[in-house]
Amino acid sequence: MTKKIIITGGAGFIGSHVVRLFVNTYPNYQIINLDKLTYAGNLMNLKDIEDKPNYKFVKGDITDAQFIDALFQEEQPDSVIHLAAESHVDRSISNPLEFVMTNVIGTVNLLNAAKELWKGNYEQHRFYHVSTDEVYGALGEEGMFTETTSYDPHSPYSASKASSDHFVRAYQDTYGLQTVISNCSNNYGSHHFPEKLIPLAINNIKNNLPIPIYGKGENVRDWLWVEDHARAIDIIFHEGKTGDTYNIGGHNEWTNIDLIHTLCNVLDKKLKRPEGSSKKLITYVTDRAGHDLRYAIDAQKLEKELGWTPSLQFEEGLEKTVDWYLNNEEWLENVTSGQYKEYYEKQYN
Ligand code: NAD
Repeated sequence: MTKKIIITGGAGFIGSHVVRLFVNTYPNYQIINLDKLTYAGNLMNLKDIEDKPNYKFVKGDITDAQFIDALFQEEQPDSVIHLAAESHVDRSISNPLEFVMTNVIGTVNLLNAAKELWKGNYEQHRFYHVSTDEVYGALGEEGMFTETTSYDPHSPYSASKASSDHFVRAYQDTYGLQTVISNCSNNYGSHHFPEKLIPLAINNIKNNLPIPIYGKGENVRDWLWVEDHARAIDIIFHEGKTGDTYNIGGHNEWTNIDLIHTLCNVLDKKLKRPEGSSKKLITYVTDRAGHDLRYAIDAQKLEKELGWTPSLQFEEGLEKTVDWYLNNEEWLENVTSGQYKEYYEKQYN
């Protein structure tokens, strides 16, 4: 079967893995990558597939309703996989409105364009929203988020993603748009912008810079290999039940400090530095405001109903990730010049 899918945010971290997977796995699908190319979007992420005949890049802003309507009318996509977002919690604390604009208004613009284009024929079409486990709030030492956990977002980022999830469900219930949502835990892997914990630590260790750790490093996150997330998105897009939500996670909880210790050991070995030398770079900084203590995902529904399981052990994934950053210096230098420096200095100095 042929399909024409608009994937939003395809130049970003997770989006580029999803675009690559779809372009390579489904040569009969037309994949349109719609991305504004903010600081987090980078076409270098897709160099290996940019010449494929079933791939097209469109530069555009999802907050521009007129542009989005015109694009949908022109391209006539039959499905949308929506990943474009402002995604960094720290940036949402300093600039919440940008998160409302992109994550909430941008999502509603896409829903409106899809509703208009697919009117009277919703059964043939699918709107897939890629979301986060952060909408569920924070856990204590016990328990896990399931698909029925109440929403309780704490940061402007998670509040904006929660709001966009609600709009997606409202368009299903009110207009009959055929939607599906997934809420995933923290991703790691290649092409991750180095403002997030793992790539930031790798970059700083490599350059002998302090590794900033919030509070005492006791916050717990559940980490998933980004390519396993992309595979889950593929399965949910094709086989997920309309109107349903699927949690995606790695059953892989780590405190930030244990994770950084492990990463330091891996880098000591790879960089042939004396054992323990990277750990000396750890620097504790004032905790993030409203920092959620623990996230943990129960992904049993996805595993039992659709047969997805994570493919990689964390230690193996971390090694692969470190190797990718050490072998892709040009990518790292490119994204850490200019705006990144300004942001970094404001955030940590
Ligand atoms: P990212 O920040 O790496 O990429 C976001 C992409 O969206 C970038 O390419 C950017 O240019 C694009 N974009 C931003 N604003 C846009 C706009 N107004 N119009 C068009 N494009 C725009 O983010 P990511 O980490 O790859 O996350 C992708 C999605 O997955 C997000 O919706 C995020 O909420 C969700 N998610 C992320 C994680 C994670 O661990 N990173 C976990 C669960 C869910």
